[in-house]
Amino acid sequence: MLRVLNSQAVRSLYSVSDAIPAMSEALVGFSNGSAFQHPRVRLEPPATGGVVLLMPAAVSDQLGLKLLSMFPRAAEKNLASVQGLVILVDTVHGEPLAIIDGTAVTEIRTAAVTALATDKLAKLDAVALSIIGAGVQARGHLQALANVRQWDSIRLYSRTAERAFALAGWAKDLGISVEVADSVTAAVRGADVICTVTSACEPILADADVAGSGVHINAVGAFGPECRELPSALIKRAGIYVDSREAAFAEAGDLMIPLREGVITRDAVIAELGEVLAGSDGRRADETTVFKSLGLPVEDVVACAAIYRLAVDRQVGDTIDFP
Ligand code: NDP
Repeated sequence: MLRVLNSQAVRSLYSVSDAIPAMSEALVGFSNGSAFQHPRVRLEPPATGGVVLLMPAAVSDQLGLKLLSMFPRAAEKNLASVQGLVILVDTVHGEPLAIIDGTAVTEIRTAAVTALATDKLAKLDAVALSIIGAGVQARGHLQALANVRQWDSIRLYSRTAERAFALAGWAKDLGISVEVADSVTAAVRGADVICTVTSACEPILADADVAGSGVHINAVGAFGPECRELPSALIKRAGIYVDSREAAFAEAGDLMIPLREGVITRDAVIAELGEVLAGSDGRRADETTVFKSLGLPVEDVVACAAIYRLAVDRQVGDTIDFP
């Protein structure tokens, strides 16, 4: 029996607060070598302008494959810019168990990972949050970050002001107060924690904008060797944390560009988040820290296995006789 869980089913079963401890398990397992994943396969079908990522992983008795697609023409059909699915496979007999919407899972698990990074790397008394970008990830981050600090102020900036105001309105309905700023500089002034969650390919944050002491930045958006959200000068002076060292130096322009420029070496990475979560406290007083998130297949498999178990328990989703 194959269970099919769409975005609505995923959201009814699984929240970011469920995902936070689950992502800790996934990241610790990844960093201590007990979880397995293949480096993601990237296809760019000619003439489509799109990118497809394939990501298999296994974490203890949980096994799956995620497919993500990012096609510029998705917007023409009002579809999310990041779409996808996860196929979950039984680890005893190998049968496919479920097909699960990957868009909702990606939103939830990515935001949960940022929440973990913020909890470990931001100042304990962080009260001012800034978010740059107003898309799917920005929405997830607004919810997730409420789990790890009490924010006195949340400022949001996005290129398209209407989207920023729409997101702020959505947050207000959830009881989250968000002020829309009219520039990146205004959004991040005085911030303790900054999340960059855009599809920008060139730096969107200036080094001079990050002026406070002990600011923590979650750089979530850009991926690919040529794309970045942060400038080299900022990377050079920050303490750098990543989800995967291997992926960071294969896919993160935020680190690969300064590395190519000779501004940093690979030793600039202090630790993987899974190492920090396993015990060492990554917080260093007064230091600017950057967590570069790329998203790991182990995160998707752990999240989807939990969603599947809940769906079976609660009889959620459609089932198909298969094969
Ligand atoms: P959305 O398309 O929903 O939102 C993208 C946001 O980025 C919008 O606010 C958009 O503004 C803004 N933006 C796009 N281009 C630029 C630009 N050149 N300069 C400034 N802002 C820009 O995407 P998602 O929220 O789903 O994803 C955001 C980013 O996060 C993507 O790069 C995606 O690849 C990445 N991502 C990372 C994951 C991880 O695990 N680290 C997981 C999933 C996604 P506007 O409305 O004006 O277009």
